[in-house]
Amino acid sequence: MTRVALLGSTGSIGTQTLRVARHLRDRVEIVALAGGWNTRLLSRQIEEFRPRMYHSVVPFELSSAGSCQTTLEEIVTDEHVDAVVVATGGHVGLKPTLAALRHGKRVALANKEVLVMAGAQVMETASRSGAELIPVDSEHSAIWQCIRGEPPPHRIILTASGGPFFDYSSGQLDQVTADEALAHPVWSMGSKITIDSATMMNKGLEIIEARWLFEMPYDQIDVLIHRECLVHSMVEFIDGSVKAQLSMPDMALSIQYALTYPDRVAGAASPLPWDMARTLSFEPADSDRFPCLKLARDAGKAARTYPAVLCGADEAAVELFLHGTIGFQDIARMVDSALDAHEPGDASDLDSILAADEWARRYVHDRYGTISSGSET
Ligand code: MG
Repeated sequence: MTRVALLGSTGSIGTQTLRVARHLRDRVEIVALAGGWNTRLLSRQIEEFRPRMYHSVVPFELSSAGSCQTTLEEIVTDEHVDAVVVATGGHVGLKPTLAALRHGKRVALANKEVLVMAGAQVMETASRSGAELIPVDSEHSAIWQCIRGEPPPHRIILTASGGPFFDYSSGQLDQVTADEALAHPVWSMGSKITIDSATMMNKGLEIIEARWLFEMPYDQIDVLIHRECLVHSMVEFIDGSVKAQLSMPDMALSIQYALTYPDRVAGAASPLPWDMARTLSFEPADSDRFPCLKLARDAGKAARTYPAVLCGADEAAVELFLHGTIGFQDIARMVDSALDAHEPGDASDLDSILAADEWARRYVHDRYGTISSGSET
């Protein structure tokens, strides 16, 4: 039995993790739940899974006894926890991830900003304690599945859906609204990541994530548009052989594999139906129309606190776009401007990483005025 603590249980990945847990009741036990603002959903989850511990950003009365309210730090270091699923968004997952790794817990990481902002520290902490860090992001799970039993690959090819606007001209991109951007053609995700998918910032963050997870130089990480979303990424070896991982676009598979690895078990995800004709298409990504791709790659290469600024500025700009305050293409402009204005600090210091993230949010908000936010976590 794997005893799991789930951080970010009320978000998109969190609820899908619980769907997987329902299928794996004989292998997985949910021993802790932590959620954000949606206390009604969190209390329903606690009723159903009866974890030993829970944490809520907003304190609330629990109608049933048996679960005790505690801190994130206590949850991830508790002796009754084997694995921690980090399904929070933004910088929130950073400290709990590092604490869990220090205590030798398996971490199933869905919060990509953790690696983007503090990749060096996270990987170093994992290797020092010997803790397993397993990617939940579908692309990185695909790569991870492809390299099992292989020498290190020579190249990583991240596939991207291209989002809803992949064939829009720059003029058309100027006109798109938040509602259009939220209508992702294939994946069902939270609103922040859906907008990131439309700007392709999501793929940019995944380039940085891949650099750390697989120790791959930036120049050996490529991005291909793959509209069918069946190939979740590929690796190329030195002899030119390419391996791909295919499955239905359903996060349940990568969540499940992170929890059951090295075993494969029947579970929540359905297999690919092969009884119909299929075409798989691939084309290069256009970073002129989707500048976030290049901004992310450059911020990754510049390292230091630039990736933290990339994350903080993007999160603030996406929030402004969702509120209708700025246009779609202003997201990249705001991030670019924040990166330009930033005085970089030392990325081996967690406080300076978090300060850079905070500085970037303030920078973006100061330029466009603060907004009242009720965003999900
Ligand atoms: Mg992904």
